[in-house]
Amino acid sequence: MDKQVKKKMLVPEALPCSQKKLVEESQTKNSTPKPSKFNDEDIQKKKDNKDYRGLLPAEIGTDYNFKREIVWKNAIGFLALHLAALYGFWVLLVHCYWSTVFWAVFVALSSGVGVTTGAHRLFSHRAYKAPFITRFILILFHTLAGQNCLYIWVRDHRQHHKYSDTDADPHNANRGFFFSHVGWLMSRKHPAVISKGKTIDMSDMKADWLVMFQKKYYKILYTIFAILLPSAVPVYFWGESWYNAFFSAYLFRSVAVLNMTWLVNSAAHLWGNKPFDKYIKPVESRFVAIVSVGEGWHNYHHAFPWDYRAAEFGSKYSLTTFTIDLMARYGLAYDLRTTPYHMVQKRAERTGDGTHIICGPYAEKLEKTGKLDEKDISEILKNKETGSVRRMVTAQG
Ligand SMILES: [Zn+2]
Ligand SMILES: [Zn+2]
Repeated sequence: MDKQVKKKMLVPEALPCSQKKLVEESQTKNSTPKPSKFNDEDIQKKKDNKDYRGLLPAEIGTDYNFKREIVWKNAIGFLALHLAALYGFWVLLVHCYWSTVFWAVFVALSSGVGVTTGAHRLFSHRAYKAPFITRFILILFHTLAGQNCLYIWVRDHRQHHKYSDTDADPHNANRGFFFSHVGWLMSRKHPAVISKGKTIDMSDMKADWLVMFQKKYYKILYTIFAILLPSAVPVYFWGESWYNAFFSAYLFRSVAVLNMTWLVNSAAHLWGNKPFDKYIKPVESRFVAIVSVGEGWHNYHHAFPWDYRAAEFGSKYSLTTFTIDLMARYGLAYDLRTTPYHMVQKRAERTGDGTHIICGPYAEKLEKTGKLDEKDISEILKNKETGSVRRMVTAQG
């Protein structure tokens, strides 16, 4: 197939001519893959020998014939944990005091926000900077959530971004909902995950003694902060039984938060639209955004991973972004990184699936004049009814 035909096939059919031209141009200019060091035969040979060194994400791809090996100890453990959590939900609804219900919701929310604000946006992506006190509190909340130590969380997440939806992605969504949700935690790692995991730059995490302290003493810290503390508060402050508190505020609460986090890896890579980049798997999912306190705008996040808002529309539906904005107001977060709105527009125009509001008449105008005027922008904003974008456009032109 000659190059010209290949290039044309990548242009979305549904776009107006003006946009097709833009997409073609941008693909020529910006989406040219890095030159590979290997030819097809070498790549296959390397993969057969489980040697992934030097292979690019596109070359690793997904081998659908790969047979997963189940780690039965983990599978049975997760099954038991979920059954116990379901029982915990029943205990919470039927046997607990109302104060315990509120407490479980409070712990779920605060540990969830701890993970999204800290492990994800601060530690994994360095989307903003934070003083010691903020990092200390966020690591504490991360421990409360009980999602493995921060060091491993961040390594897996950085690897997920670098090798998204390939065999080197720990939760490759090409293997389906169950695998990307929880199945990956009960399967032996794909050799590509092990090989590429060693190449992830973790020097910043190694240099942070707080992170390394949590890694070293994780088991004991988990026992204290994820199990004992959430269970003890209802017992000592309003006389709940240890049994009820353990099943509701620890088991049900932590498994619920785990599933909400996992939905970002599963549902937000499978079902939704792709306004910013139709060539990647992550999607925009309002449902996931709500249950994961703001992490469901995943097509945007993978397109602009450094953006502390992890969404185009600021803190709308995002308790996480709201929390970071609040911290920034009191000096607890600073150097917040964002994406200039014109860059978002251009990206939506260039590689989006045509569902972004910028497509249509605005796309044609942008193509002709290179810029939208204030009136157009205010029209877009009016349609989206969002104050946060209005602020963003004013600030960034
Ligand atoms: Zn993702
Ligand atoms: Zn991320």
